[in-house]
Amino acid sequence: MPPDTSAHLLAWYDVHARVLPWRSRPGTPAPEPYRVWLSEIMLQQTGTATVGPYFGRFLAAWPSVADLSAADDGAVMQAWAGLGYYARARNLLAAARVVACSGWPSDEAGLRALPGVGTYTAAAIAAIAFGQRAVVVDGNVERVVARLFAVEAALPAARRTLYALADALTPAERSGDHAQAMMDLGATVCTPRAPKCEACPLATICAAHAGNAPERFPVKAAKAVRPVRVGTAYWIEVDGYVLLEQRPPRGLLGGMLGLPGTPWEQENVHSATLSASHPGDITIRHVFTHFELRLSVAIAYHAARPDLPGEWHDAATLTGLPTLFVRAAEAVLRVRADAALSPNLALETA
Ligand code: SF4
Repeated sequence: MPPDTSAHLLAWYDVHARVLPWRSRPGTPAPEPYRVWLSEIMLQQTGTATVGPYFGRFLAAWPSVADLSAADDGAVMQAWAGLGYYARARNLLAAARVVACSGWPSDEAGLRALPGVGTYTAAAIAAIAFGQRAVVVDGNVERVVARLFAVEAALPAARRTLYALADALTPAERSGDHAQAMMDLGATVCTPRAPKCEACPLATICAAHAGNAPERFPVKAAKAVRPVRVGTAYWIEVDGYVLLEQRPPRGLLGGMLGLPGTPWEQENVHSATLSASHPGDITIRHVFTHFELRLSVAIAYHAARPDLPGEWHDAATLTGLPTLFVRAAEAVLRVRADAALSPNLALETA
């Protein structure tokens, strides 16, 4: 790889850098670590378009890491609702409280010790906020590097090789801009499908482009089939108010508001038969990282509030729910609207 590869990339970045709310323009002072950290945590598993409004709302509510450290846990979880992967929000608060006490760690190893900060995020903060040389490798960067070097080894086993190649490309100066340039190149030019090689600053040195097969890289190992879990959620409504419960602090959607229901269990012959035996039920299919959930939603309207744990919320103005339960609520409200239109459809009442 020619030694001026990064110089080419930086010259391209100086002109084509994406304008993002958590970024500084090339050649201006680095953004505060708080902005870099907050955005990087939000961007884990979530795209920039979705993160933008959340980032703005968080900064408005908690302008500094000290403000966030003093925030009410419930308010932060509610502000996070809809972003998914809720462990990130719990880690965000835990890390803010460490930083508010002890200050920002000064190197990658110290950053990695913060809750929710892994290798990639620590490197991104070190490079972008602190101007340190750090090797920042996310999915976009892996794709660019795999194509530049036409790496035939398959992911995920190829990850070490790709990291070493990304390391070789990383300059001692402007390491943060280099990292952001690689991310931008992957997001806007070297896209997963139909990469725009004609607009790429690295086209003349790219092995995949030379071989006329950029989309063949990165090579990926065959995916394992995602297991299925099943469960039931209960929509219990009285006079337009629905019963919600706070989920346990640990585990999936921990600490979030949700519909009460059964545990989510591995699908087996019995659960498959049961879930197929109620054709009138609503079923939400929701994909988590490690499994697909098929959540049946059982609806019951009561004349009086039953003596059950939880809190009653106006069904017409539900807020702060994670996406799974937003989808369940929307499905129930659709069924209810259809029933109102069709006199032959009766909903269960008790
Ligand atoms: S030339 Fe094409 S495949 Fe190679 S890095 Fe640039 S956009 Fe990606």
